[in-house]
Amino acid sequence: MTKYWNEMIQHRLQSFAEAGLKRELRPVRQVCQPVLVYQGKQLLNFSSNNYLGLAGHPEIIAAEKEAAERGAGGVASRLIIGHDEAIEELEYELARFQDKEAALVFANGYMANVGILSAFLGRHDAVFSDRLNHASIVDGIRLSGAVHYRYHHGDLNHLELQLKKAEQKGIKRRLIVTDSVFSMDGDVAPLKEIIFLKEKYGAALMIDEAHAGGVFGEEGQGMAHQLGIHGQVDLHMGTFSKAFGVYGAYIAGKKEWIQYLVHTCRSLIYTTALPPTVVGGIRKALKLVQNGNELRQMLAEKSQYVRRELREAGLDIGSSSTQIIPIVLGDERTTLAFSEKLLACGILSVAIRPPTVPKGSARIRLSIMANHEWDDLRKAVHVIKEIAKELEVI
Ligand code: PMP
Repeated sequence: MTKYWNEMIQHRLQSFAEAGLKRELRPVRQVCQPVLVYQGKQLLNFSSNNYLGLAGHPEIIAAEKEAAERGAGGVASRLIIGHDEAIEELEYELARFQDKEAALVFANGYMANVGILSAFLGRHDAVFSDRLNHASIVDGIRLSGAVHYRYHHGDLNHLELQLKKAEQKGIKRRLIVTDSVFSMDGDVAPLKEIIFLKEKYGAALMIDEAHAGGVFGEEGQGMAHQLGIHGQVDLHMGTFSKAFGVYGAYIAGKKEWIQYLVHTCRSLIYTTALPPTVVGGIRKALKLVQNGNELRQMLAEKSQYVRRELREAGLDIGSSSTQIIPIVLGDERTTLAFSEKLLACGILSVAIRPPTVPKGSARIRLSIMANHEWDDLRKAVHVIKEIAKELEVI
Protein backbone atom coordinates (compact mmCIF):
# COMPACT_ATOMS: atom_id res chain seq x y z
CA MET A 1 0.00 0.00 0.00
CA THR A 2 1.52 3.26 -1.08
CA LYS A 3 -1.44 5.31 0.18
CA TYR A 4 0.32 6.41 3.38
CA TRP A 5 3.41 7.38 1.45
CA ASN A 6 1.34 9.35 -1.06
CA GLU A 7 -0.36 11.23 1.77
CA MET A 8 2.94 12.14 3.43
CA ILE A 9 4.53 13.20 0.13
CA GLN A 10 1.56 15.34 -0.94
CA HIS A 11 1.40 16.96 2.48
CA ARG A 12 5.12 17.78 2.50
CA LEU A 13 5.08 19.15 -1.06
CA GLN A 14 2.13 21.35 -0.20
CA SER A 15 3.90 22.67 2.90
CA PHE A 16 6.99 23.53 0.85
CA ALA A 17 4.84 25.40 -1.68
CA GLU A 18 2.90 27.28 1.01
CA ALA A 19 6.12 28.33 2.73
CA GLY A 20 7.50 29.67 -0.55
CA LEU A 21 10.10 26.88 -0.52
CA LYS A 22 9.11 25.09 -3.72
CA ARG A 23 12.19 23.85 -5.57
CA GLU A 24 12.60 23.24 -9.26
CA LEU A 25 15.11 21.57 -11.54
CA ARG A 26 15.84 23.86 -14.48
CA PRO A 27 17.18 22.48 -17.75
CA VAL A 28 19.97 24.82 -18.78
CA ARG A 29 22.35 24.89 -21.77
CA GLN A 30 25.96 26.16 -21.94
CA VAL A 31 26.32 25.96 -18.16
CA CYS A 32 30.11 26.18 -18.38
CA GLN A 33 30.01 29.66 -19.92
CA PRO A 34 29.51 33.11 -18.34
CA VAL A 35 26.46 33.48 -20.60
CA LEU A 36 24.16 30.45 -20.58
CA VAL A 37 20.85 29.56 -22.21
CA TYR A 38 17.67 28.95 -20.24
CA GLN A 39 14.27 28.55 -21.89
CA GLY A 40 15.82 29.69 -25.15
CA LYS A 41 17.03 32.94 -23.60
CA GLN A 42 20.64 34.06 -23.11
CA LEU A 43 21.32 34.87 -19.46
CA LEU A 44 24.32 36.21 -17.58
CA ASN A 45 25.46 33.33 -15.39
CA PHE A 46 26.02 34.31 -11.76
CA SER A 47 25.17 30.94 -10.32
CA SER A 48 28.06 28.62 -11.05
CA ASN A 49 31.08 27.58 -9.04
CA ASN A 50 33.16 27.60 -12.19
CA TYR A 51 35.08 30.54 -10.74
CA LEU A 52 38.06 30.48 -13.10
CA GLY A 53 35.98 29.55 -16.14
CA LEU A 54 37.98 26.32 -16.51
CA ALA A 55 34.91 24.10 -17.03
CA GLY A 56 34.81 25.35 -20.61
CA HIS A 57 38.59 25.31 -21.15
CA PRO A 58 39.55 23.65 -24.46
CA GLU A 59 42.72 22.07 -23.00
CA ILE A 60 40.75 20.31 -20.25
CA ILE A 61 38.14 19.13 -22.71
CA ALA A 62 40.92 17.84 -25.00
CA ALA A 63 42.57 16.04 -22.05
CA GLU A 64 39.26 14.40 -21.22
CA LYS A 65 38.81 13.26 -24.84
CA GLU A 66 42.29 11.81 -24.84
CA ALA A 67 41.71 10.03 -21.53
CA ALA A 68 38.44 8.63 -22.88
CA GLU A 69 40.55 6.48 -25.19
CA ARG A 70 41.49 4.45 -22.10
CA GLY A 71 37.85 3.58 -21.42
CA ALA A 72 34.54 5.04 -20.35
CA GLY A 73 34.25 3.83 -16.78
CA GLY A 74 36.11 3.40 -13.51
CA VAL A 75 35.26 -0.36 -13.69
CA ALA A 76 35.77 -1.25 -10.01
CA SER A 77 36.32 0.24 -6.60
CA ARG A 78 39.77 1.61 -5.80
CA LEU A 79 40.79 -1.36 -3.66
CA ILE A 80 39.86 -3.89 -6.31
CA ILE A 81 41.26 -2.81 -9.71
CA GLY A 82 39.92 0.77 -9.90
CA HIS A 83 43.20 2.36 -8.79
CA ASP A 84 44.29 3.33 -12.30
CA GLU A 85 47.93 4.43 -12.62
CA ALA A 86 46.63 7.89 -13.58
CA ILE A 87 44.90 8.17 -10.18
CA GLU A 88 48.11 7.13 -8.41
CA GLU A 89 50.00 9.86 -10.29
CA LEU A 90 47.31 12.42 -9.60
CA GLU A 91 47.56 11.65 -5.89
CA TYR A 92 51.32 12.25 -5.95
CA GLU A 93 50.73 15.53 -7.77
CA LEU A 94 48.15 16.58 -5.20
CA ALA A 95 50.37 15.74 -2.23
CA ARG A 96 53.11 17.89 -3.76
CA PHE A 97 50.62 20.65 -4.57
CA GLN A 98 49.56 20.80 -0.93
CA ASP A 99 53.00 20.21 0.63
CA LYS A 100 51.64 17.12 2.36
CA GLU A 101 52.96 13.58 2.58
CA ALA A 102 50.04 11.98 0.78
CA ALA A 103 46.69 12.59 -0.86
CA LEU A 104 43.62 10.55 -1.69
CA VAL A 105 41.08 11.23 -4.43
CA PHE A 106 37.34 10.86 -3.88
CA ALA A 107 34.33 10.72 -6.19
CA ASN A 108 33.13 14.13 -4.99
CA GLY A 109 33.30 16.52 -2.08
CA TYR A 110 30.13 15.31 -0.46
CA MET A 111 31.39 11.74 -0.31
CA ALA A 112 34.82 12.88 0.82
CA ASN A 113 33.50 14.80 3.82
CA VAL A 114 30.95 12.21 4.86
CA GLY A 115 33.47 9.38 4.56
CA ILE A 116 36.49 11.12 6.10
CA LEU A 117 34.66 12.49 9.13
CA SER A 118 32.86 9.24 9.86
CA ALA A 119 36.13 7.33 9.49
CA PHE A 120 38.14 9.50 11.88
CA LEU A 121 35.47 10.23 14.45
CA GLY A 122 33.69 7.86 16.81
CA ARG A 123 31.39 8.07 19.82
CA HIS A 124 34.23 8.84 22.20
CA ASP A 125 35.59 11.77 20.18
CA ALA A 126 34.62 15.44 20.07
CA VAL A 127 34.20 17.50 16.93
CA PHE A 128 33.96 21.29 16.77
CA SER A 129 32.22 22.51 13.67
CA ASP A 130 31.35 26.02 12.50
CA ARG A 131 27.57 26.44 12.42
CA LEU A 132 27.71 27.40 8.72
CA ASN A 133 29.85 24.49 7.57
CA HIS A 134 28.69 22.67 4.46
CA ALA A 135 25.93 20.04 4.76
CA SER A 136 28.38 17.26 3.84
CA ILE A 137 30.41 18.07 6.97
CA VAL A 138 27.30 18.05 9.11
CA ASP A 139 26.22 14.71 7.63
CA GLY A 140 29.66 13.15 8.16
CA ILE A 141 29.61 14.22 11.79
CA ARG A 142 26.09 12.87 12.29
CA LEU A 143 27.07 9.54 10.83
CA SER A 144 30.12 9.32 13.09
CA GLY A 145 28.13 9.63 16.32
CA ALA A 146 30.87 11.87 17.80
CA VAL A 147 30.06 14.48 20.45
CA HIS A 148 29.14 17.41 18.22
CA TYR A 149 29.94 20.96 19.30
CA ARG A 150 28.60 23.49 16.81
CA TYR A 151 30.19 26.86 17.41
CA HIS A 152 28.64 30.15 16.29
CA HIS A 153 29.87 31.18 12.87
CA GLY A 154 33.50 32.33 13.11
CA ASP A 155 33.11 32.86 16.88
CA LEU A 156 36.45 32.05 18.51
CA ASN A 157 35.24 32.66 22.06
CA HIS A 158 32.46 30.15 21.56
CA LEU A 159 34.88 27.66 20.02
CA GLU A 160 37.27 28.03 22.94
CA LEU A 161 34.45 27.58 25.45
CA GLN A 162 33.49 24.34 23.77
CA LEU A 163 37.08 23.11 23.58
CA LYS A 164 37.32 23.71 27.33
CA LYS A 165 34.09 21.80 27.92
CA ALA A 166 35.33 18.79 25.98
CA GLU A 167 38.63 18.92 27.88
CA GLN A 168 36.78 18.99 31.20
CA LYS A 169 34.74 15.98 30.08
CA GLY A 170 38.02 14.16 29.48
CA ILE A 171 37.47 13.73 25.73
CA LYS A 172 40.99 13.22 24.42
CA ARG A 173 40.63 13.18 20.64
CA ARG A 174 39.30 16.51 19.42
CA LEU A 175 38.88 17.66 15.85
CA ILE A 176 38.07 21.17 14.64
CA VAL A 177 36.52 21.26 11.19
CA THR A 178 35.73 24.33 9.13
CA ASP A 179 35.13 25.52 5.60
CA SER A 180 37.89 27.99 4.73
CA VAL A 181 35.63 30.05 2.44
CA PHE A 182 31.96 29.69 3.30
CA SER A 183 29.83 28.65 0.37
CA MET A 184 26.77 30.80 1.01
CA ASP A 185 28.43 33.84 2.59
CA GLY A 186 31.73 34.18 0.80
CA ASP A 187 33.51 35.05 4.03
CA VAL A 188 36.67 33.47 5.34
CA ALA A 189 37.17 31.43 8.53
CA PRO A 190 39.63 32.98 11.03
CA LEU A 191 42.11 30.21 10.31
CA LYS A 192 45.13 31.72 12.06
CA GLU A 193 43.20 32.11 15.29
CA ILE A 194 41.67 28.64 14.94
CA ILE A 195 45.20 27.25 14.65
CA PHE A 196 46.16 29.05 17.84
CA LEU A 197 43.23 27.36 19.63
CA LYS A 198 43.92 24.00 18.02
CA GLU A 199 47.46 24.08 19.42
CA LYS A 200 46.39 25.41 22.81
CA TYR A 201 43.86 22.60 23.27
CA GLY A 202 45.72 19.85 21.46
CA ALA A 203 43.09 19.36 18.76
CA ALA A 204 43.47 18.30 15.14
CA LEU A 205 42.24 20.52 12.29
CA MET A 206 40.47 19.67 9.06
CA ILE A 207 39.63 22.38 6.55
CA ASP A 208 37.32 22.22 3.56
CA GLU A 209 38.85 24.35 0.81
CA ALA A 210 36.10 23.63 -1.76
CA HIS A 211 35.55 27.30 -2.59
CA ALA A 212 39.11 28.50 -2.00
CA GLY A 213 40.97 25.89 -4.04
CA GLY A 214 42.16 27.36 -7.33
CA VAL A 215 41.18 30.84 -6.18
CA PHE A 216 43.61 31.60 -3.33
CA GLY A 217 47.26 30.80 -2.72
CA GLU A 218 50.19 31.43 -5.03
CA GLU A 219 49.44 28.31 -7.07
CA GLY A 220 45.77 28.08 -6.18
CA GLN A 221 46.34 25.69 -3.27
CA GLY A 222 43.71 27.46 -1.15
CA MET A 223 43.30 29.82 1.76
CA ALA A 224 45.66 27.96 4.11
CA HIS A 225 48.54 28.59 1.70
CA GLN A 226 47.41 32.17 1.14
CA LEU A 227 47.67 32.73 4.91
CA GLY A 228 50.87 30.71 5.23
CA ILE A 229 49.41 28.31 7.80
CA HIS A 230 49.09 25.18 5.67
CA GLY A 231 51.80 23.42 7.67
CA GLN A 232 49.52 23.39 10.72
CA VAL A 233 46.51 21.93 8.92
CA ASP A 234 46.19 18.19 9.55
CA LEU A 235 43.62 17.40 6.90
CA HIS A 236 43.19 19.52 3.81
CA MET A 237 40.07 18.71 1.79
CA GLY A 238 39.57 20.21 -1.67
CA THR A 239 37.20 19.70 -4.60
CA PHE A 240 37.69 19.67 -8.36
CA SER A 241 34.08 20.63 -9.05
CA LYS A 242 34.47 24.35 -8.51
CA ALA A 243 37.43 26.48 -9.64
CA PHE A 244 39.05 23.38 -11.18
CA GLY A 245 36.01 23.10 -13.46
CA VAL A 246 35.84 19.29 -13.44
CA TYR A 247 34.52 16.88 -10.79
CA GLY A 248 35.81 14.98 -7.79
CA ALA A 249 37.59 15.79 -4.55
CA TYR A 250 40.63 14.94 -2.45
CA ILE A 251 42.11 14.95 0.99
CA ALA A 252 45.78 15.63 1.74
CA GLY A 253 47.62 14.94 4.98
CA LYS A 254 50.13 12.71 6.77
CA LYS A 255 50.89 9.39 5.09
CA GLU A 256 49.59 7.28 7.95
CA TRP A 257 46.37 9.26 8.17
CA ILE A 258 45.76 8.67 4.47
CA GLN A 259 46.58 4.97 4.87
CA TYR A 260 44.09 4.82 7.71
CA LEU A 261 41.42 6.19 5.34
CA VAL A 262 42.28 3.52 2.76
CA HIS A 263 41.48 0.95 5.47
CA THR A 264 38.39 2.55 6.96
CA CYS A 265 36.72 5.15 4.77
CA ARG A 266 33.49 3.65 3.47
CA SER A 267 32.84 6.27 0.79
CA LEU A 268 36.24 5.43 -0.68
CA ILE A 269 36.06 1.65 -0.31
CA TYR A 270 32.51 0.92 -1.38
CA THR A 271 32.26 2.97 -4.53
CA THR A 272 33.60 2.84 -8.07
CA ALA A 273 36.76 4.77 -8.95
CA LEU A 274 36.47 7.96 -11.00
CA PRO A 275 36.37 7.29 -14.75
CA PRO A 276 39.51 8.03 -16.85
CA THR A 277 37.94 11.08 -18.51
CA VAL A 278 37.43 12.81 -15.17
CA VAL A 279 40.91 11.91 -13.92
CA GLY A 280 42.44 13.18 -17.17
CA GLY A 281 40.46 16.39 -16.87
CA ILE A 282 41.48 16.92 -13.25
CA ARG A 283 45.20 16.46 -14.03
CA LYS A 284 45.05 19.07 -16.79
CA ALA A 285 42.99 21.39 -14.58
CA LEU A 286 45.57 21.08 -11.81
CA LYS A 287 48.28 22.32 -14.18
CA LEU A 288 46.12 25.21 -15.36
CA VAL A 289 45.25 26.12 -11.78
CA GLN A 290 48.92 26.12 -10.76
CA ASN A 291 49.69 28.48 -13.64
CA GLY A 292 46.50 30.45 -13.16
CA ASN A 293 47.73 33.63 -11.49
CA GLU A 294 46.31 35.82 -14.21
CA LEU A 295 42.88 34.24 -13.87
CA ARG A 296 43.05 34.60 -10.07
CA GLN A 297 43.96 38.25 -10.43
CA MET A 298 41.07 38.88 -12.82
CA LEU A 299 38.65 37.10 -10.53
CA ALA A 300 39.85 39.10 -7.51
CA GLU A 301 39.47 42.44 -9.33
CA LYS A 302 36.01 41.64 -10.68
CA SER A 303 34.78 40.33 -7.33
CA GLN A 304 36.11 43.39 -5.55
CA TYR A 305 34.31 45.67 -8.01
CA VAL A 306 30.94 43.94 -7.49
CA ARG A 307 31.31 43.82 -3.69
CA ARG A 308 32.20 47.52 -3.53
CA GLU A 309 29.33 48.60 -5.78
CA LEU A 310 26.72 46.59 -3.88
CA ARG A 311 27.99 47.66 -0.46
CA GLU A 312 28.05 51.32 -1.47
CA ALA A 313 24.48 50.99 -2.71
CA GLY A 314 23.48 49.91 0.81
CA LEU A 315 22.88 46.23 0.11
CA ASP A 316 23.68 43.68 2.81
CA ILE A 317 26.43 41.46 1.45
CA GLY A 318 27.50 40.29 4.90
CA SER A 319 31.23 39.81 5.39
CA SER A 320 31.96 38.57 1.89
CA SER A 321 35.56 39.12 0.84
CA THR A 322 35.65 36.62 -2.02
CA GLN A 323 34.07 35.75 -5.37
CA ILE A 324 30.92 34.54 -3.55
CA ILE A 325 28.72 37.54 -2.86
CA PRO A 326 25.41 37.11 -1.07
CA ILE A 327 22.69 39.74 -1.20
CA VAL A 328 20.98 38.92 2.07
CA LEU A 329 17.31 39.85 1.94
CA GLY A 330 15.98 37.74 4.81
CA ASP A 331 12.45 37.19 3.59
CA GLU A 332 11.95 34.20 1.29
CA ARG A 333 9.28 35.73 -0.92
CA THR A 334 11.24 38.95 -1.47
CA THR A 335 14.24 36.82 -2.38
CA LEU A 336 12.22 34.83 -4.91
CA ALA A 337 10.76 38.03 -6.37
CA PHE A 338 14.28 39.48 -6.61
CA SER A 339 15.55 36.44 -8.44
CA GLU A 340 12.57 36.44 -10.84
CA LYS A 341 13.12 40.10 -11.66
CA LEU A 342 16.79 39.39 -12.30
CA LEU A 343 15.76 36.61 -14.66
CA ALA A 344 13.43 38.94 -16.52
CA CYS A 345 16.42 41.29 -16.98
CA GLY A 346 18.66 38.54 -18.34
CA ILE A 347 20.53 37.62 -15.16
CA LEU A 348 20.55 34.16 -13.64
CA SER A 349 21.29 34.28 -9.94
CA VAL A 350 19.11 31.92 -8.01
CA ALA A 351 17.42 32.49 -4.69
CA ILE A 352 19.01 30.55 -1.85
CA ARG A 353 16.55 29.72 0.89
CA PRO A 354 16.31 27.63 4.06
CA PRO A 355 17.30 24.93 4.78
CA THR A 356 20.37 25.69 2.61
CA VAL A 357 20.86 28.86 4.69
CA PRO A 358 19.55 29.61 8.23
CA LYS A 359 15.93 30.72 8.56
CA GLY A 360 15.45 34.45 8.02
CA SER A 361 18.58 34.79 5.89
CA ALA A 362 17.29 33.99 2.40
CA ARG A 363 19.49 35.55 -0.21
CA ILE A 364 20.57 35.93 -3.76
CA ARG A 365 23.99 34.34 -4.15
CA LEU A 366 26.14 35.87 -6.84
CA SER A 367 29.24 34.04 -7.87
CA ILE A 368 31.72 35.84 -10.04
CA MET A 369 33.77 34.20 -12.79
CA ALA A 370 37.21 35.31 -13.97
CA ASN A 371 35.89 35.42 -17.53
CA HIS A 372 32.80 37.53 -16.89
CA GLU A 373 32.97 40.53 -19.24
CA TRP A 374 33.38 43.88 -17.48
CA ASP A 375 30.41 45.29 -19.39
CA ASP A 376 28.26 42.42 -18.19
CA LEU A 377 29.33 43.02 -14.59
CA ARG A 378 28.47 46.72 -14.89
CA LYS A 379 25.10 45.82 -16.36
CA ALA A 380 24.41 43.31 -13.57
CA VAL A 381 25.34 45.79 -10.85
CA HIS A 382 23.03 48.41 -12.40
CA VAL A 383 20.12 45.97 -12.69
CA ILE A 384 20.58 44.73 -9.11
CA LYS A 385 20.47 48.27 -7.76
CA GLU A 386 17.31 49.07 -9.75
CA ILE A 387 15.54 45.92 -8.52
CA ALA A 388 16.63 46.62 -4.94
CA LYS A 389 15.04 50.07 -5.17
CA GLU A 390 11.88 48.68 -6.74
CA LEU A 391 11.50 46.09 -3.95
CA GLU A 392 12.40 48.75 -1.38
CA VAL A 393 15.32 46.85 0.09
CA ILE A 394 17.55 49.92 -0.22
N1 PMP B 1 32.19 21.34 0.70
C1 PMP B 1 31.71 22.55 0.39
C2 PMP B 1 32.11 23.71 1.24
C3 PMP B 1 30.85 22.71 -0.70
O1 PMP B 1 30.34 23.91 -0.99
C4 PMP B 1 30.50 21.59 -1.48
C5 PMP B 1 29.63 21.68 -2.73
N2 PMP B 1 28.76 22.67 -2.84
C6 PMP B 1 31.01 20.35 -1.12
C7 PMP B 1 31.86 20.26 -0.04
C8 PMP B 1 30.65 19.13 -1.89
O2 PMP B 1 31.44 19.03 -3.02
P1 PMP B 1 30.93 18.27 -4.33
O3 PMP B 1 30.02 19.21 -5.06
O4 PMP B 1 32.17 17.92 -5.05
O5 PMP B 1 30.18 17.04 -3.86
